[in-house]
Amino acid sequence: MDIDVLVKNGTVVDPLNNIHRVMDVALSNGKVAEVGQDLSIFRASSVLDAQGALVVPGVIDPHVHTVRPGSRGAAYRMLLRCGVTTAMDMRGPVDVFLEEIRAVGSGINAGCMNALFAEKDIPTEGATENQIRACIDERLSKGAFGIKIMGGHYPFSQEVTGRIIEVCARRKGYIAFHCGSTATGSNIKGLLEAVELAGENPLHVAHVNSYCRGMVYDVNEEIRLALEALRAHPNLVSESYLSVMNGTYCTLDAQGEIESQVTRNCLRMGGYPETAAGLEEAIVQGYCVIYALAGGVMNLLSPTDGHAYWKSFPEAQCTFAVNNPISLVSCATARRQDGSFVVDSLCSDGGANPRNVIFRNGLALVRARYMTLEDLVRKASLNPARMLGLPGKGHLTPGADGDIAVFDPQSGEALYTLVNGRVCMAHGVCHDGPGTVVTQPEGVEAVRKAGLKTIIADLSFSLFRRGHAA
Ligand SMILES: [Zn+2]
Repeated sequence: MDIDVLVKNGTVVDPLNNIHRVMDVALSNGKVAEVGQDLSIFRASSVLDAQGALVVPGVIDPHVHTVRPGSRGAAYRMLLRCGVTTAMDMRGPVDVFLEEIRAVGSGINAGCMNALFAEKDIPTEGATENQIRACIDERLSKGAFGIKIMGGHYPFSQEVTGRIIEVCARRKGYIAFHCGSTATGSNIKGLLEAVELAGENPLHVAHVNSYCRGMVYDVNEEIRLALEALRAHPNLVSESYLSVMNGTYCTLDAQGEIESQVTRNCLRMGGYPETAAGLEEAIVQGYCVIYALAGGVMNLLSPTDGHAYWKSFPEAQCTFAVNNPISLVSCATARRQDGSFVVDSLCSDGGANPRNVIFRNGLALVRARYMTLEDLVRKASLNPARMLGLPGKGHLTPGADGDIAVFDPQSGEALYTLVNGRVCMAHGVCHDGPGTVVTQPEGVEAVRKAGLKTIIADLSFSLFRRGHAA
């Protein structure tokens, strides 16, 4: 028997290899061995029946949150159930990320973009190049894939923000930005400012849709400005998500003030005061929705349960239905002149936040003919693989990584998710073992010391480093 797992009779969609037909996919030694018709089941140790299902390269979600207080690995189970084989945690800290992926990683591939926090990590104003560089080097040597600026939530000054991007570019690291500084905020002005601050340096712009909520200008004007900025700057890569729900924090600081600027924005949008009392009222009235672990995954709570949970556990996470549906669709579907997507990749900004809807809502766009099925696979797998510098992913060429998702085409739920050739999720039941860490060459030693396997990114191949002009 030369095949480890044979995925039989599914509709295989692989845009890179121009495949869209009923075929079999054979995996051996963790890799794609063969894609063909009528491969014999007698060659395989194990066979998965994919008749009537979609078989695609595993979803690569470039923006999730796995490290969440009280979530105990829920993110990994939730991601696998949505066909995600590789994910990027967008906050960290990397040491907690490594502990969790070893204990409860469920076999998934994941990396960590370690957040830099204003004041706690680097002074909000006047931080020097040396301070910034030391902080970035430390995170990367601990195994982080890259750095995240949490500007929208916890802003730095413009000057420090620009310096962080510059230092990261000079040391050839990966950097993602939730746009916003102390001068702007998490809105369209924050995005336009980010474009200016980046200059010609590479930058990953997080969740483009979230800056187009109509907070500064009319929402259509904000969408136009955001897409125009991305089209005009080939050094930027980006993602957007497809849920009206956002994700933020309801923690209060030592003075009892709301910490996150995003949470304040949401309260303002809903007509609530930006105070602890305003937040409490929003939770009680169900405008601010708390989520918590139940049955191994994170669930949205009722207002009464959410309020009680938040009172007993102030680190609880929350979500507001503040995203404009027109922004979601526009960011997901806008094209450049050559036909490629303006926003490179879909993401969920989910993980432990219950909104892992890349394929479910992506299929709705396909049904509405806003994009083809090939487009969806491109945006959910091939493009993020290129963005992040993972040449072995996003396609089913023989020799590619054995990452595959088998979807029910009606519900958009994953039936099977295979990672590195192993069935890590079958009908909701997840593998019980560590995950594999996606990191940069300088992080390999730390990750291996933590007892974990690595996948090493090749940024020289990445869209992040090469930009759209290349
Ligand atoms: Zn996020």
